[in-house]
Amino acid sequence: MDMLRCEVCLQQIVVGNCACSTSTGVDKDRQRPALRLDFAGGDLSGWHAEGEAFRGQPVRGDRFRAGQVKPKLVPLGGDYWDGPYPVGQRGEYWISTEDYLTGTLTSETFILEASSPWFTCLLGGSDVKDTCSISLLIKASESNSSRLSNSYSRIYIAKESSDFFQVFQATSRGHEMMRRVVFYAQEFVGEWVSVRISDSSISGHINVADVRFSAEAPLTLETEAGEIDPDAPVWGFADLHTHPMAHLAFGGVIFWGQPDGPVDEAMAKCVKAHGIAGTGIAGRRSSILMSFFEQIGYGINVGHLVGGYPQFDGWPRFTTLVHQQMYIDWIRRAFDGGLRLLVAHAVNNEMLANSYNGQEPYDDKSVVERQIEAMKELAARHHDWMEIAYTPAEARRIIHQNKLAIVLGVEVDSLGNWKQPQLPTEEEISAYLAHLYHDLGVRHLFPVHMADNIFSGSAIYYDLFSLVNHYLHKDYFAVEDGSAYGIEYRLQEDPGLAIDIARVTQGYNPPYRQVSGGHMNGKGLTDLGHFLLCQMMSLGMLIEIDHMSHKAVEATLDLVEQYDYPVVAGHTGFRELALKRNEETACNQKCASEGLKTALQIERIAKLGGIIGPLACQADVREVGEVIPSLQGKVRGDCAGSSKSWAQAYLYAVEKMGGRGVGFGTDTNGFAKFNAPRFGLNASYFLDYDVPGMGRDSRRRSLRREQVEAQENGVRYDESLADTHHYRFEGVLEGDVYDGLQRDVWQAIGLYKAGCDPWKSPNILNHFNRAVHFAKGFFALDDVQLERPGLLTGNEPWEQRVAFLVKTGLEPGTTERDPQPVHEMYPRVIAIWRRWEQMEGDNPPLKRCYTGERDFDINLDGVAHYGLLPDLLQDLKNVGLTHEDLVPLFRSAEDYIRTWEKCERRSRAIVESKDKW
Ligand SMILES: [Zn+2]
Ligand SMILES: [Zn+2]
Ligand SMILES: [Zn+2]
Repeated sequence: MDMLRCEVCLQQIVVGNCACSTSTGVDKDRQRPALRLDFAGGDLSGWHAEGEAFRGQPVRGDRFRAGQVKPKLVPLGGDYWDGPYPVGQRGEYWISTEDYLTGTLTSETFILEASSPWFTCLLGGSDVKDTCSISLLIKASESNSSRLSNSYSRIYIAKESSDFFQVFQATSRGHEMMRRVVFYAQEFVGEWVSVRISDSSISGHINVADVRFSAEAPLTLETEAGEIDPDAPVWGFADLHTHPMAHLAFGGVIFWGQPDGPVDEAMAKCVKAHGIAGTGIAGRRSSILMSFFEQIGYGINVGHLVGGYPQFDGWPRFTTLVHQQMYIDWIRRAFDGGLRLLVAHAVNNEMLANSYNGQEPYDDKSVVERQIEAMKELAARHHDWMEIAYTPAEARRIIHQNKLAIVLGVEVDSLGNWKQPQLPTEEEISAYLAHLYHDLGVRHLFPVHMADNIFSGSAIYYDLFSLVNHYLHKDYFAVEDGSAYGIEYRLQEDPGLAIDIARVTQGYNPPYRQVSGGHMNGKGLTDLGHFLLCQMMSLGMLIEIDHMSHKAVEATLDLVEQYDYPVVAGHTGFRELALKRNEETACNQKCASEGLKTALQIERIAKLGGIIGPLACQADVREVGEVIPSLQGKVRGDCAGSSKSWAQAYLYAVEKMGGRGVGFGTDTNGFAKFNAPRFGLNASYFLDYDVPGMGRDSRRRSLRREQVEAQENGVRYDESLADTHHYRFEGVLEGDVYDGLQRDVWQAIGLYKAGCDPWKSPNILNHFNRAVHFAKGFFALDDVQLERPGLLTGNEPWEQRVAFLVKTGLEPGTTERDPQPVHEMYPRVIAIWRRWEQMEGDNPPLKRCYTGERDFDINLDGVAHYGLLPDLLQDLKNVGLTHEDLVPLFRSAEDYIRTWEKCERRSRAIVESKDKW
């Protein structure tokens, strides 16, 4: 490896790997003016151009689209992914000629020194009969001519007035992705040499970067595009927060469905664990506690449909809390859609395990071991497309080899099972951390989760967290007034039924109401927490600051800044985007809490080279343009909890992070909801849903009709939807924006789009179903076909007639064929028809996702499971994020790796400079 001094901190470093934050390392050749071959100055100094091809060179940044570099990159259709793609260039500037131009670029001559006999560069471009190439030339002299003329061809270079021998040539081979070219030029040491780049094709181009001579052979990595740089940037997005092994958490019962195995077994109906009709009653392992979960805010809200394979009538949905959303096929689809790095956190909750018929063991320590083991087994079973990365270099290699890199993490309440008052010694903490790191392979770690622990206070933003805290420590949060930090959230305001019950059954009676203002945790980072963080830095682990109390976040940032050590906020939200109490929202949950990061905290993370993942479901947040005026109108924030809400958080994050270090933080399988749809019966779902403790908002509710009607340009699919059952057209809009008739019209158009013609197959639904009547009207080819009013008909003939008119683009007439009921019904039906038309957006069709008998559709279903991340991305593009806007997201796997690399660099530097903390 090349060792040299970093220009900035003067430390001896490995090339490209300086630990100082200001530099990524410099090439030693740059310091020698005669050898400036790498275009680093943004011009062609040191080179001489002839012809047109090198006018306007070098180029800067990414020049090719993903589809040009890898035509089969995303097999799902759509166009969200077809933005700039890194082709492996190093440094800011590189050469990439135009197809129609030709020319040569010849370096100045210089003496090849014995200290750097390896000639190397990065090379890509067209494969046009060797017309695009790079050569190493040796100046002909009296002493070398006789020796070299037998083996090498001679070229006359006018500028040098001399002949040269071409001793090495490499040609581009049809890949934009640049391969590492290496030539050992030892035998020419002491000769005058020159490098020549040639593009003599009017239909081809050449990409060249990082031309240099080095002391040792550069390292390379074998890929389908040839030997590339092992540290070439990767493409793809990172999900910084998931729980693929949640079925092994919480006692292994309440969370239903497995991530792997035959689909009929892995995702069978959930009766055993969730009871009959999901009520918690009469299942073999179920508990009445089930009634607190899977509340969806409409219908009777007790229990749920239990399928499951093959119907998937009950789950997964975007509201799902306790059913599997990361089945292997769905992870695969996310991978196909551009996911390249996944942080898989072991997770647990002892209270839930204990309360919901949990199987022992349910302590955090044991459960972590089990989940990590299971995650490794899953990765091993699917080694052809996924692999666990234990170092950033491994992550890079895995992704370059077209696989999903998985990073192991832990997010539990009581690391090491330590609870007050039994404090571990520092030695015990070090030993457990070493076990996590060395034995289990954990690299990404939460010091604290939902409850206070021996390391830190926990961020307060749900009453249930307080209940967990009470369960674990028989104590309440030390709540303080957090108004000074913009915090408005208050505990005990809308606690929900679970808290009310705990009040009776557990004597849970916290004094929070007495604390005025917004509620924050008075507890910050403890001395042991400080110690834990130092140990994590020594190991080079990724420190996760989400779930830390405000005070703990601040103390952590103060600490890591002393060591220039980056941190991660992997499933976060932003205080500035929260709605104002009373003025803007009546919902406590939507107010700024200490779970949300301040602008300054995000800027500090950015400065450290950290990375953040805005939580996928941002519920109901403010439009980013209200906070950052330059982003005004970019994406309208008019559909609560949908892709549009995430877009606000994403744009905010990218701005505050300075354009890098922003991925997804889905928290899939982590009791978090997913993005709501923009169409159908659950559009703008998070504006208000009628579940106590979950977000009732009488103030925002009035915006619903406006939000519903504002939606356009939904995701277009390659095939129409297939499943038209009733459950797919149920939701919070019935009885609010839509009446029962309109709900039926949604379903009827679904039948029509799916080609379920009730004239031909009368048993599609109950014959008397109103949706069927409308569907008949949509399917009718002629008015004559429609039923006429008679003794036994109700509204059926009018429903058919209205649907027929709407489909054929006619309006109700003035004859007796269109009496008053037709005129009245017509606007209600055409309103829904137009919503359906808006769902078929302008994107190249996206491949539809199917599992069992069920198809999924982001427009109607929202992000029902992990496999709909590509659909979410397409929707993000359809609502206004451009390819440029999405660049940071598709760089987020790379940015995660860079954060991790910095952790490792800083760790080495810290360990070297310290005997002891
Ligand atoms: Zn269930
Ligand atoms: Zn979490
Ligand atoms: Zn989580």
